[in-house]
Amino acid sequence: MSLWKRTASKRRRSAPKNGGGIMVKDFACSRCGACCRQLPLFHGIYDDLDRGDGVCRHFDEQTDLCGIYECRPEMCNVRHSYALFKQHLSWESYVERTTLGCKFLRAQLRKTPLK
Ligand code: SF4
Ligand code: SF4
Repeated sequence: MSLWKRTASKRRRSAPKNGGGIMVKDFACSRCGACCRQLPLFHGIYDDLDRGDGVCRHFDEQTDLCGIYECRPEMCNVRHSYALFKQHLSWESYVERTTLGCKFLRAQLRKTPLK
């Protein structure tokens, strides 16, 4: 079974809660599209989605949004992907690091804008 299929069985449908059942910090996607437009920066994880120029074949350039959002792959879902890291990272640390990653991706995109 693939890594992504294994994580699918552990998916979370809502933000994790602390011991007291209180909702904790959630990941806020700004919908900038910087991830979907720079797939080679993910070291091969998204190669199957690459339309040939580093942009996902499902990315809608008119709206800057995912064209298959409701059925996007598990690996595109930040919340579901937490299953891969939760042994080592708290949800808050994971959100912080992912948010930093998004900042990096936006900076990279400004350096190499789409033609
Ligand atoms: S780079 Fe981050 S903030 Fe931008 S669309 Fe991707 S997940 Fe959302
Ligand atoms: S499937 Fe959607 S969320 Fe995933 S990389 Fe492609 S456009 Fe982005």
